[in-house]
Amino acid sequence: MVHNKHKYLHTKHWWDGLALAYALVILAALLRIWPLQVLGMKIPWVTFYPAVMITALYGGLYSGIIASILSCLVIYFLWPFFGPLPIIAETADWIGMTVFFLNCMMISGIAEAMLRARLRAFIAKNEADKANKSKSVFLANMSHELRTPLNAILGFTRLTKKSEGATDSIRANMDIVIRSGEHLLNLINNVLDISKIESGTLKLEEKSVDINFLLREVHSLLSIRAEEKGIVCSLSIHPDVPRFVIVDPGKLHQILLNLVGNAIKFTVAGTVKIRANAVRNGTPDALRLRFEVEDTGVGIPSKDHGKIFEPFFQISQQEIKEAGTGLGLAIGRQYAELMGGEILVHSDEGKGSLFYFEIPVRESSDTSELPMVIQGRMTGVVHEINGQKILIVEDEPVNRLLLRNILAPMRYDIREASNGKEGVAIADAWGPDLIFMDIRMPVMNGKDAARLLKSAEKTKNITIVALTAHALEEERQQILAAGCNDVISKPYHENNIYEILAKYLKAQFVFEQSEAEPKKNIFIAQTLDQLPSDLIADLYDAATLLDANACAAVIERIHLINADVAGQLHGLIAEYEFKQILDAITTLRSKGEL
Ligand code: ADP
Repeated sequence: MVHNKHKYLHTKHWWDGLALAYALVILAALLRIWPLQVLGMKIPWVTFYPAVMITALYGGLYSGIIASILSCLVIYFLWPFFGPLPIIAETADWIGMTVFFLNCMMISGIAEAMLRARLRAFIAKNEADKANKSKSVFLANMSHELRTPLNAILGFTRLTKKSEGATDSIRANMDIVIRSGEHLLNLINNVLDISKIESGTLKLEEKSVDINFLLREVHSLLSIRAEEKGIVCSLSIHPDVPRFVIVDPGKLHQILLNLVGNAIKFTVAGTVKIRANAVRNGTPDALRLRFEVEDTGVGIPSKDHGKIFEPFFQISQQEIKEAGTGLGLAIGRQYAELMGGEILVHSDEGKGSLFYFEIPVRESSDTSELPMVIQGRMTGVVHEINGQKILIVEDEPVNRLLLRNILAPMRYDIREASNGKEGVAIADAWGPDLIFMDIRMPVMNGKDAARLLKSAEKTKNITIVALTAHALEEERQQILAAGCNDVISKPYHENNIYEILAKYLKAQFVFEQSEAEPKKNIFIAQTLDQLPSDLIADLYDAATLLDANACAAVIERIHLINADVAGQLHGLIAEYEFKQILDAITTLRSKGEL
């Protein structure tokens, strides 16, 4: 604080104030000659007050006093230069000068107080900026420290769960560890998000996104939890919603996860409906997407409708007690605002809630960002790995072992290094195809190592994939700027590693059918049984012919009766999932429900 104060005060020197006082007093005196001469010699103060005032405002108390004294001296001694008669001639003039001097003292005092208040505000702002910055750094570090061990815990637990020898009871226990670990990770991410919002470092990261895929991913992630509770979770995407739009996918995904997660959490029985609609106001530029999440849950008392968006607020008398942080809606609202929308709520206590928001988006023609969908367990590698070499540069032996275990089934040639310097030396001599590079390491960190490797002719073409527990976007940008080709955040899922191997080493994997897949049929069957049988028959015929247009025509008719089911079917047709529709109808028919 002391340091700041000095720095601020040193930007103004006392002689600056003195020079200004001289200049202004002389100017004031000169103004006495013309045009103010007409006022007579008895009221010289008219011109000297502003001189003192400006000087005091600039330099504070001392400059004001100097300007006042200078004015009095000029008035008393230098009057012959400025006018024919003395300004101080009789007793009344002396009284006038005393009043002038006292007033100037007061003006200077007030100016000094103003300057000090400005200085205090400046110092306080500086301190707050510094505190905010150190809070962000602290949180980034804390998140790093927590994510690193969490990477090992989650990674090894997943590997153990999938190992051949694991019994059902071990798998069940491992599931509990994984769920708890993921909950902890969620907490860390939430706290980090809130701190990013508070420090104003949150930025939009927009790109072309398959909105259909994003919604289906949120739906399939959470519908398993809904099914466990016996709740039907439906997704309906209106046919007007364009498939590819420019939007920040991370933030949209997060808002939807929070809203749908809450809807399932606070519903005991009934349904959770996710809806997406397109709102067009004439021009194509004015496209807005409207998302709605409706539940038949416990509802929210109207007095709490505003409060639920405050950080850490949770309704205490709610009958459902499930783990939560009270941060989900606070984060969601901020994200929505950043995207140009607002989350609103309608809710009746005991009946259910509807959360909805609209965001402006632009339609996109770029379909290149299609994500690779990996579901289920990796069971084999299709393409022949001809001794492709992978170098693991990581200081934590546990994390090296984890990565080695994930890579083990693929018979890559693997070497390890425990810091950046060692990594650079091995890469130079051995020439790996890909390096998994930890960022924070002793001796030489990952960014410096990447810079060295990318600047040398021999190693510049090696793919470097950074592994970092730092979650801030700035850090990610710095890592890419250092020359890394990609970044994986810890704790990572083995699927993240497979995606990297597929992308850079052209590996092709065989995956076991996802466990969630058969459940989808049950869901579709549940929703189809609400439709008239003639529509079901037409849909069956169209799906049997694999005719997307005919299916779309039947779905249009279904839309008039049940928009939710139509949306769900539309999503399946868009993915050419005719078989799922046929299977669902067959299941219903075999149960005699149609
Ligand atoms: P969390 O769910 O982690 O407690 P949120 O910020 O997401 O935190 O929600 C804040 C509170 O708002 C919840 O604790 C709950 O009391 C209430 N709430 C949110 N969504 C719903 C919902 N769909 N139905 C009933 N109450 C809800």
